[in-house]
Amino acid sequence: MNENAPDIGKATEIIRNGGLVAMPTETVYGLAADACNDRAVARIFEAKGRPQFNPLIIHVTGVDMARRYVAFSPLAEKLADHFWPGALTLVLARREDSAISRLVSAGLETIAVRAPNHQLAQKLINAIDRPVAAPSANRSGSISPTKPEHVRDSLGAKVDLILDGGRCIVGVESTIVKVDDDAITLLRPGGITKEEIEQQLGCAIATADKAATIEAPGMLASHYAPNAQIRLDVTKPKNNEAFLGFGTNTIESPNALTLSTDGDLQEAAANLFDCLHRLDKMAEKHGLKGIACAPIPMDGLGIAINDRLSRAAAPKNDGI
Ligand code: AMP
Ligand code: MG
Repeated sequence: MNENAPDIGKATEIIRNGGLVAMPTETVYGLAADACNDRAVARIFEAKGRPQFNPLIIHVTGVDMARRYVAFSPLAEKLADHFWPGALTLVLARREDSAISRLVSAGLETIAVRAPNHQLAQKLINAIDRPVAAPSANRSGSISPTKPEHVRDSLGAKVDLILDGGRCIVGVESTIVKVDDDAITLLRPGGITKEEIEQQLGCAIATADKAATIEAPGMLASHYAPNAQIRLDVTKPKNNEAFLGFGTNTIESPNALTLSTDGDLQEAAANLFDCLHRLDKMAEKHGLKGIACAPIPMDGLGIAINDRLSRAAAPKNDGI
């Protein structure tokens, strides 16, 4: 191996230890972390300075690895068979026993998954032997990186290692489709055209416009909202409420969970969706009126946490 050869061994170790690696794919460079490690996934959002927890795409070597975490309908199978490895992301139902961090899918019951067509990405994921979550490796709001220098300029020391795979061949993000049994909807146009997919399936797929109103990033319906009513900035929950604590704002109760007793925002982000799911279940089981949430500081990852909590607290839009 020559001196400048990309070091898969080092990259593997970094990811296994919860670090971040800029990973070349055929679409754009991804900021990769262990998709099963909540803390590592929280670091992605922190490094990108994302003010929201958008669901992320997990990257796998192929269908065999994906099958461990999501359910494949015959239609999904057909798409993966034809387009993987490649620039097509499938949004599929999360398996009940899926080990993927709930922060990856922003609490949704679906997971977006793709097998990249790039030798280095394939080698890395194969060596880790589990999926990596990887949004584009740039600061939030700036353009997607298609060369290692773009990553360096945008993220600098926030990324532990940049695997140099040269220039990305496709250069635009993957096409995203949602597959519900035998129905398919285009969520985001990208590296593979709608026509190519339609041709392969021999049928038309729902238009992006219609889908965009339902599932586009940041839309209410694309985000997990608990069934229980959420009340924010609460330091003393009522008797009939579950409680989501933070820092010194905690209570001893079977109906309370704490995002981080140390007041650590990265730990809090890592625990957020899992805690909301568990509290929602507790509220239902014990007939509680809702979930009260402790105040979270508005800095760093706290901005994304507060964004998510205020969406969860907003009146539900039953029209969608
Ligand atoms: P990026 O990783 O930055 O290319 O962005 C990921 C895209 O995938 C975003 O547009 C997300 O809204 C979308 N996405 C990821 N997971 C899901 C999901 N479970 N359901 C719908 N859209 C998703
Ligand atoms: Mg991006």
